[in-house]
Amino acid sequence: MAEIDSSTKVLGLIGDPVSGSLSPRLQNRAIDRLGLDYRYFAFPVKEGRVNEAVIGAKELGLKGLNVTVPHKKTVVEYTDNLSRAARVMGAINTITFAEEGEIEGDNTDWKGFLKSLELHEFDPEGKRCLVFGAGGAASGVVYGLVRRGARRIVIVNRTESKGVDLARKMEGLSLGVDLDVRPLTGSDIGKRIERSDLVVNATSVGMGATEGEAVWEDGDGFHSGQLVYDLIYNPSPTKFLKLADDGGADTIDGLDMLILQGLESLKKWTGEEFESGEKVDELRRYLRDSGGLN
Ligand code: NAP
Repeated sequence: MAEIDSSTKVLGLIGDPVSGSLSPRLQNRAIDRLGLDYRYFAFPVKEGRVNEAVIGAKELGLKGLNVTVPHKKTVVEYTDNLSRAARVMGAINTITFAEEGEIEGDNTDWKGFLKSLELHEFDPEGKRCLVFGAGGAASGVVYGLVRRGARRIVIVNRTESKGVDLARKMEGLSLGVDLDVRPLTGSDIGKRIERSDLVVNATSVGMGATEGEAVWEDGDGFHSGQLVYDLIYNPSPTKFLKLADDGGADTIDGLDMLILQGLESLKKWTGEEFESGEKVDELRRYLRDSGGLN
C-alpha cells in the first residue's frame, strides 16, 4: 500500500452506526490492488448532523463519501446535483465532491446488483421477476430490473402501500415493464414465485434479530432453472437461500452486490475500473477470510 503523505486523498463512509461496516476493508483492499494514493475511513455521524458532516468533508478536501443508514434519504437535500437513479429512488449512497466545488449525489446499488447478475450470467431482459421488499435496497433492485428491460416485476411487501409507492416511483421510466404489487399475505405468492425466473429477497428478514427466519417461510414455488438472490450477506446462506436450494434453484448471496456497488463508487471517485470476475472473487475471499462475517 502506498505510504500516507500530504498528497494522499481521503474517502469515507458516513452513517450511524458504522462500526460493523465492511466498506473500509473492501475499499482499502481495492485501493491497494489498484495502486492508488487514497485511504478510506468510516465516520460515525449522528442524525441531524449530516449537513455539517458533508460540508466539513468538502472543505477538508475529501474526494467522496459513501452514505449509509440512517442518512441515505436526508442527505439528498445537501447535494447540488443528483443522478437520475438517485432522483428516482430518492436516496443516495455515494457523494462525489467535484473539482468545480459541486456536491454530486448518486446511488450505485442498482449497478452493483445488475453487475452481480452479469457475473452469474443472468440477463434480466424479458424475464419475469419477483422482489420481496419495498425499502431502500428493493428500490435499487427494482430500478435496475426496470432499466435492464425485465418483462414483469412483482413487488411483494408486508406493508402493501410501500410497495405501491415503489411501483409509482418507477412509472416515469416508462420502459414497458409490467409492475404488480402484492401483500406478503397474498394466497398466490407461491404460484407467482413458481412463474418467476428471478426471485430476490430485499427485506431484512434473515439477519440480526430475524436470523434463521425467511420472508417466505413455506418455500413453495422454488424450482430448478430459477435464480434466487438474497441481498443479505451475513449470515450466508440465509434460510431463504436454503429453502430455494432445497427446491433446486440456483442461489446468490448479497456479498457480490456489496462489493460491486462499492467498486462503482470507487470508480466514480477515482476513474479507476476494478471489475473482472477474478478480482471480485479475490475481494469476496478476502472479506470472508479476514473476519467480521459468519
Ligand atoms: P429498509 O429500507 O429498512 O427496508 C426493509 C424492508 O424489509 C421493508 O420492505 C420491510 O417491510 C421489510 N421487513 C422488515 N422486517 C420485516 C418482517 N419482519 N417481515 C416482513 N418484511 C419485513 O432496509 P433496506 O436498506 O432496504 O435493507 C434491506 C436488506 O437489504 C438488509 O438486510 C440489508 O442488509 C440488505 N442490503 C444489502 C445490500 C448489498 O449490497 N448486498 C445493499 C443494501 C441493503 P415493510 O415495508 O413492511 O416495513
